[in-house]
Amino acid sequence: AGAAAWLLWGLMPGFYTDLGLRVTVYSMLVAAYGSLSIIELWRSRRQFEVAYLPALMLMLVHTGFYCVRSVADHGVSLDQAIASNGHGTGFFSFMLFESMLYAIGIAYVTLAMVRERTELKFKAAAYADPLTGVGNRRAFMSCGEKLLADCARRGEPVSLLLCDLDHFKRLNDTHGHQTGDQALIAFAQVTSNSVRQEDVFARIGGEEFACLLANTDAQTARQVAQRICDSFYAVPMLEPGFLSVSIGIVGASGPGEHDLSRLLSKADNALYAAKRQGRNRVHLYQPSRWQPTGHPADTL
Ligand code: GH3
Ligand code: MG
Ligand code: MG
Repeated sequence: AGAAAWLLWGLMPGFYTDLGLRVTVYSMLVAAYGSLSIIELWRSRRQFEVAYLPALMLMLVHTGFYCVRSVADHGVSLDQAIASNGHGTGFFSFMLFESMLYAIGIAYVTLAMVRERTELKFKAAAYADPLTGVGNRRAFMSCGEKLLADCARRGEPVSLLLCDLDHFKRLNDTHGHQTGDQALIAFAQVTSNSVRQEDVFARIGGEEFACLLANTDAQTARQVAQRICDSFYAVPMLEPGFLSVSIGIVGASGPGEHDLSRLLSKADNALYAAKRQGRNRVHLYQPSRWQPTGHPADTL
């Protein structure tokens, strides 16, 4: 529209011959486009998910420059410039310099934004489980370590839930792999609805999920786990007995306890205790009492 208007105005003799007017109108057109670009960039800044400030700054400078030019510059004709041996063309020279700087700068920051966004997409793909949409093992280890370090620094307790769907092989064999996949998706949804934004939940193996609950003691974690267990059992997908989960829970509260691999190992012990006790249940890890017989006792 701007280009078409410019061409139409150019057909008017009064406009075409008035250099000052042309400079003003052109500058206002550029400033209008710049302002619209700034508004667009600002409105969609959250979707960009990348550093947009360099682009915004460049646009602000460019638009500001043309706002000033629309009132301060009245243009210098070529004849005048030649006659005065270049004197009085300072604004024009600066405009060329600014335009070049803007063209190169905006191309560079746009490429940088595209590259950053592509990297983010790859990273998101590398951290997501394609079937359920929740995090994968890599995401769990990386975000889990960070959550544990943050909670340890603040002296807050953390609890780990290790969940393993019961008799999943039987479900696959009886109802097919696709139904098995649906059960995995259902479990991911049930658990995602039961945990908070700050918790770390991921699918860490075939039918195994793990969840780190931030600032949560073991007793509260047991209630959360029980809620997940009950909600999954109540999912109206298959006949009763086919959908259930066993959950091992371990809490970390004291100094030195916020260690992910040790917590996973303890939660694994608790999980297998839940399996042994009949599945479809939660089990809280109890530290084993060492027996002086030389055989570590299994007190689970
Ligand atoms: P338990 O109650 O002791 O945990 O028994 P289980 O049958 O759940 O455990 P097992 O380890 O014997 O079997 C796990 C099954 O999970 C085997 C594997 O085929 C299935 N599985 C792993 N990943 C997927 C998947 O992405 N989709 C489906 N449908 N099945 C999967
Ligand atoms: Mg398993
Ligand atoms: Mg299983």
